[in-house]
Amino acid sequence: MKKLFSFLLIAVLAVSAVGCSKAPAKEATTEAPADAVTTEKVVNIYSDRHYDTDQALFDMFTEETGIKVNIVKAKSDELLERLETEGEDTEADLVITSDVGRLYRANEKGLTKELVSEVVDSNVPENFRDAKNNWTALTMRARILAYSLDRVNPADLSTYEALTADEFAGKVVVRSSSNIYNQSLLASFIALNGEEAATEWAAGIVKNFARDPKGNDRDQMKAVVAGEGDLAIVNTYYVGKLLNSSDPVEVEVGKQIGVFFPNQETTGTHVNISGAALTKHGKNSEEATLLVEFLTSEKAQSDYANANYEYPVNPNVEPSELLKSFGEFKAQDIDLSLLGANNADAVKVFGKVGWQ
Ligand code: FE
Repeated sequence: MKKLFSFLLIAVLAVSAVGCSKAPAKEATTEAPADAVTTEKVVNIYSDRHYDTDQALFDMFTEETGIKVNIVKAKSDELLERLETEGEDTEADLVITSDVGRLYRANEKGLTKELVSEVVDSNVPENFRDAKNNWTALTMRARILAYSLDRVNPADLSTYEALTADEFAGKVVVRSSSNIYNQSLLASFIALNGEEAATEWAAGIVKNFARDPKGNDRDQMKAVVAGEGDLAIVNTYYVGKLLNSSDPVEVEVGKQIGVFFPNQETTGTHVNISGAALTKHGKNSEEATLLVEFLTSEKAQSDYANANYEYPVNPNVEPSELLKSFGEFKAQDIDLSLLGANNADAVKVFGKVGWQ
């Protein structure tokens, strides 16, 4: 009997030991510091930034502040839809997107709230923030002409508008109009020159297409180097991505591309931003604000911008050597909100002129 009891005791102990060594090991850490769970500071981000480099900055922020950063990545439209559906129940505190048009849309839909921070106000110039601080830029990019160093003399380039001339017939490659970067580009022309002129421009580019739009910005430059066209309309950082690619073929493509900033004598080169907005129903707005302060700080800006070959928005931070090698440029001087406000009209114009 004593033996049987000992056996049973051992069996019970063994079972509970197995139990302890598996799931409860986790339970122990989540249960024991129950207080820690409720007091643990976090920021939950919805981000559409498709770049590998953001995580390193978030890690640095966590190390500095002890605030954990959780991130959900998806396409911006999906993220905004999710935010809308979740309403007050959302766990998201901060939305980060790589186009001001989306930030504008989030704001219009009432999904954002004012970010009150003297630090951010001093880190980011007014023209890179929403008038009511419902979003702020984190990085900037220019949409430039990437031309074939072999076949194009940059002296023959001048403006976006000039690309509609007969001399560029069959020479322009650019991605589809469903892409937000092109929509924001056209939205800027609507803001600067009016819808009629913007329509003429879009029709003129379609007329001079080297091929039907397909692929991303990098693919456009590959097409230029392959001789399908002479120049492409792309974002600056994609040139940097080619030059620093792990694929030697992409590096070669990058080396055969020249960067030209159009409209320097006129309206300036089109620029867009990556930016952040506090969500209206975020529970950790204070922590999210600290993260935005960090991301716009001098310390983080060069990393944040340069890691993806973007321009810093903090004026105290210099761009990377690569961006400096592209030269200085004059940017469009317009209210960035107009890129969002004119988005629907831009989409309509693209449809009208048959830009796929
Ligand atoms: Fe991009």
